[in-house]
Amino acid sequence: MTIQIDIFSGFFGAGKTTLIKKLIDENVYSKKITLIENEFGEIPIDGAFLKKYNIEIKEIKAGCICCSTVIDFTNTLREIIKSKETERIIIEPSGVGKLSEIVKIVKILEEDNDIHLNLVIAAVDVTMYEEFTELFSEFYGDQIIHASTILLSRTQNVDDEELGKVVSKIREINDTASIVTTPWDDLSGIELIGLSEADGQQISRDEDLSAFDLEFDDDDHDHDDDDHNHDIFTSWGIETPKIFPVTQLESIFESLKDEAIFGKVVRSKGKVQIDGVNWVEFDFVPNALEIRASEPDEIGRITVIGHDLNQAILDTVF
Ligand SMILES: [Zn+2]
Repeated sequence: MTIQIDIFSGFFGAGKTTLIKKLIDENVYSKKITLIENEFGEIPIDGAFLKKYNIEIKEIKAGCICCSTVIDFTNTLREIIKSKETERIIIEPSGVGKLSEIVKIVKILEEDNDIHLNLVIAAVDVTMYEEFTELFSEFYGDQIIHASTILLSRTQNVDDEELGKVVSKIREINDTASIVTTPWDDLSGIELIGLSEADGQQISRDEDLSAFDLEFDDDDHDHDDDDHNHDIFTSWGIETPKIFPVTQLESIFESLKDEAIFGKVVRSKGKVQIDGVNWVEFDFVPNALEIRASEPDEIGRITVIGHDLNQAILDTVF
C-alpha cells in the first residue's frame, strides 16, 4: 500500500502545529500516521504538546532536516517506510526548514519506495508577510515558492485590501499554488485537506478578491542554492517550575516587542503554571498573543526564537 506523505511547512508562528492538531482532533486522518517533527531550539514545545495524541512521533532535534540533520531525516523516513506500520507520514519542518530541500529528499525516496508526495503546504501568517519577506526571504520565500497549497493564517485580523495585496504578492512568486484565505476556524479539517488537494485555485473568504489584478512573473523559480544559514536565528529556552499569572505573561510579551532591548523576537511559545493549580499554553508572534487553558505538566517550558536575541535579558524576564 502506498504511503502518503504530507509536508506542513511554514515560518515561525504561522500555525503549522495548530493545523496538524486540528486535523488530528477532527479525525481527518483515520489511518495510522507518523509525524516527523523538527523543532528549532533545544526546548521541544510542539513535541510535548502533541504527546497527548495517540500518534507515532519522531522528533529530530539536533538541527535542521534540510541541512545539518538531512541524513538523520532521510534514515528516519526510510525506517518508517520499511516498517510498514504507517499509512501516512506527516512532516513538520522547523520554521526555517527550506521546503525545496525537503521536497527534493522525498522525491528522491519516491523513486524507489512505495510512497507518494501528497500535500505540500506552506502556512503563511498574512499579518507578518511584508516584514518577514523583507527580513527573512531566503526561508520564507522558499516555502511560498515551493508549496502547492498556501494556507494563509490570521486572515481574520486584516481587511480585504490588505489580504488582496498579500495574495497578489504571493501570486507573483507562485502562480500555481492553491491559496486559501478563509479563516481556518471557518473550515473543517476535511475541507482544508480537500482544498489543498485541488491544485491552482484560490479559495477566498470573499469573491471580490478575485477582482485584484494579478501579475505573474515567469522567472525561474528553482533556486538550486543549498547554501543557507540558519545561524541568523537563535533560540532561547528554559524549563521552569515558576508561576506566571496571565497578566504577567501579557506584560512580558508586550515588552518583548521592543527590539532595542530584546533583539528581533519572531516567535515564542510554551506552557506554564498561572497559579497554584492551573496551566496555560501560549503562542506569541509579534502581532498576536494567544493564551489558552491547558492540562498540567511536570514542568513549565518556554522558548523564544529570534534574530540577535539578548539572552541575558530574557533570563531576567522569565
Ligand atoms: Zn536547513
